[in-house]
Amino acid sequence: MTNASHVLAAALAKGAAGQRLDRAQALALVAAAGPARLHQLGAAALANRRRRFGDRATYVFNLQVNPTNICSMHCTFCNYAASPQDPHAYVMDEEEIFGQVARLSPTEVHIVGGLNRIWPYRRNLELVRELHRRWPHIHLKCFTAVEIDYFAKSEKTDAAHILAELRDAGMQAMPGGGAEIFSERLWQRHWKNKIGPADWLRIHSLAHEMGITTNATMLFGFGDTWQERIDHLLTLRAAQDRSGGFACFIPLPFQPGKGKFISHGPTPLETLTVLAVSRLVLDNVAHLKSYWPMTGLATAAAGLSWGADDMDGTISEEKIAHLAGAPTPVGLARDRMVDTIRAAGFTPCERDGKFNPCDAPADRAAARDAAGRHAAQGPCAP
Ligand code: SF4
Repeated sequence: MTNASHVLAAALAKGAAGQRLDRAQALALVAAAGPARLHQLGAAALANRRRRFGDRATYVFNLQVNPTNICSMHCTFCNYAASPQDPHAYVMDEEEIFGQVARLSPTEVHIVGGLNRIWPYRRNLELVRELHRRWPHIHLKCFTAVEIDYFAKSEKTDAAHILAELRDAGMQAMPGGGAEIFSERLWQRHWKNKIGPADWLRIHSLAHEMGITTNATMLFGFGDTWQERIDHLLTLRAAQDRSGGFACFIPLPFQPGKGKFISHGPTPLETLTVLAVSRLVLDNVAHLKSYWPMTGLATAAAGLSWGADDMDGTISEEKIAHLAGAPTPVGLARDRMVDTIRAAGFTPCERDGKFNPCDAPADRAAARDAAGRHAAQGPCAP
């Protein structure tokens, strides 16, 4: 056995057992490509997720609220954002949002949007406060670190103050968007108008100190290298060692959209590889999400065998991935989510916003099933 194959064998065995990989072992997982390697990674990641969750695969009945797509940040990869004069620009108002929540009665409401003066900080704060007042049982997961930073700068205060006000108004968790990939090289090239890796990590760390759990994401397939992806995972793992506040990790395959700098996103096999490597490296983040609006439903379901344990949610009314050109439906009926998980060989389990199993109340079943009537790249989303 060569030294390289010895390192790989050790990495796969340790990863399958949920033990910590060092950097050399993490890099060994991706040192060679091809179907044989994919299956080795998949077997190890499946063993790891089975040790944690058995055959359970979770989803949440959620509503994604994207109040407006007007944004001034001009990230190169974003097909969601619009200028006010663009034909696809839209702005929701509070009554429209309250109407969606009342109609669907979701378990979780997830709020993210563009950065602008139409929906400034105070308006977003009051939205959170009123949602919590009307529906105190709904889990409110709101605003990426990018939005928190924008709010703090526009209010001439600091992120801790903004987070404290939002938490006191009813915000319980933050999504993981806006991390993109922890690469100074790519930050300068693609999203230099908004915060980079250090500030994204600083804001999430602050949130964790204040009792706000968060997700984390990684955008991949837009010119990033495997080394950068491994460094992203290791940086996140170190941050989790310090704070313990990341509930879930979500790899996001790049959506090329129309007229962008890359004509195609990652293949399904590359997406499965990233999922498996994420499961094996992130030994201290409990949940790994297969985010179907960006992977496609079939790849997301396959991802359950490559380490993922969660399929996100029904995401009624979601706009971001779909304005970015994602070819998936706008929302999924609960029955279709359940059938998809079963067909992939796993046991579906509806969960709440904190990843606890929950029963679907009977009086919400009709709204849940109707939610699948509908489902863009603004990686700010998950
Ligand atoms: S990715 Fe987010 S911050 Fe960047 S342009 Fe799109 S909506 Fe704005």
